[in-house]
Amino acid sequence: MPSGTHNNEERVCGICKRTLRPLYKNEDWANRKYHVSCFKSILRDINNYNKVCYDKYNHRKKVGGIFVDEIKEDTKFTISWD
Ligand SMILES: [Zn+2]
Repeated sequence: MPSGTHNNEERVCGICKRTLRPLYKNEDWANRKYHVSCFKSILRDINNYNKVCYDKYNHRKKVGGIFVDEIKEDTKFTISWD
């Protein structure tokens, strides 16, 4: 199959959900599930996870098992040391 020829096999990137362009010249095309750029950005996010997790991945900060945005003035904490 020449590079760029369209066939009925349409796949989408598992990260951004947009169509994967057929790259039949690349030997890994049969197994490819992500855009290279999407995969690299995931790796970058993993390296900076403590910085991007709250904005990009909707993580919520927890202190003592309680979400920070649910802590009120009268919330009691039990702190223990190992
Ligand atoms: Zn993608």
